[in-house]
Amino acid sequence: MIRNLFGLFGSAILFSTMTAAASAQDDMEEEANWSIAIHGGAGTIDRDKITPEKDTEIRAALNKALTIGSDILKDGGTAMNAITATIISLENNPNFNAGKGAVFTWDRTNELDSSIMDGSDLSAGAVAGINGTKNPILLARAVKDNSPHVMLSGEGANQFSREQGLEQVTPDYYATPHRLQQIEAVLAREISAADVDYKFGTVGAVAHDRGGNMAAGTSTGGMTGKRWGRIGDSPVIGAGTYADNRSCAISATGSGEYFIRLGVAHEICARIRMRWPIAIEEAQLTVPKDEDGNYTYIIHASEFMLSDAEIQQIADDVIAELGELGGDGGIIYATPWGQAGYSFNTAGMYRGRATSEGEQSVAIYGDE
Ligand code: ASP
Repeated sequence: MIRNLFGLFGSAILFSTMTAAASAQDDMEEEANWSIAIHGGAGTIDRDKITPEKDTEIRAALNKALTIGSDILKDGGTAMNAITATIISLENNPNFNAGKGAVFTWDRTNELDSSIMDGSDLSAGAVAGINGTKNPILLARAVKDNSPHVMLSGEGANQFSREQGLEQVTPDYYATPHRLQQIEAVLAREISAADVDYKFGTVGAVAHDRGGNMAAGTSTGGMTGKRWGRIGDSPVIGAGTYADNRSCAISATGSGEYFIRLGVAHEICARIRMRWPIAIEEAQLTVPKDEDGNYTYIIHASEFMLSDAEIQQIADDVIAELGELGGDGGIIYATPWGQAGYSFNTAGMYRGRATSEGEQSVAIYGDE
């Protein structure tokens, strides 16, 4: 659709009166747009499993993180800085499976995964199976900014973190009584790892800034009771995280193995990127022609956007395919046209979004 002119392709007068000045003004307005979406994990999040106190606590944590990111974007800050600060806030909150509050491995240790991507130049950084760093998202960012690599793992990544001067913590920093209780229950075979994993998960943020740039980041403790150095989708660029100014920014949460197999984050961005020129062509066909058979208006790419419904459909299609493979979970998205939203196939997802259009909302259950 033409930006700000939702579905009005029928009027030749409309097109012919659209002056260059108006078009330039539209562009400026578009550049001034910002949006952000966040998640704190997806899973079997039903009302009967969450106390009213926990519900309030989670919503407050999501709102706090969202406000931190929104304030940066409002002030003209970068999407990269907004998502970094937002994710740090969620990592520091013990309610989420990232940083403090990360789940335990089979060996009762914490192995944290994180990744970050800048949609303006496709630069990316990721770390897998790390510990010792207070905020894994800062280590992923340091890999992106200060190393020639995209992904570091284990002890080497821990060493890089110390060399970068990032804040270090002792192993007990991540532990919470709740997570200890979960791992003991899993080890005692009282519950399966799948039962605990999909309630309180991974955190992530995606954003689009006033400068037109996009960024995405994800951070997690992975799956409770994971063994053998298992690594999920969260640190895998293209699976758990992806950002590309030409299409979207995505952060995922859920059963990581399936997100890796489908390359969920990149798949959504690729479909949006490829749908866009086709949609422009289709829209052009609806523009009236003059008596010589020429279009009365030629749609320029810079003034065309995919509709909210089209974006949602693409995200939902990929999540539906994930479900067909056997995977559970969801994603958050932001687009260059200001949309910010979610798609998930679980009962609920801790989530929130804010835009320059004045929206700020958080939600937990699927029916909200
Ligand atoms: N995707 C994460 C993993 O597989 C877990 C989660 O999002 O809850 O490690």
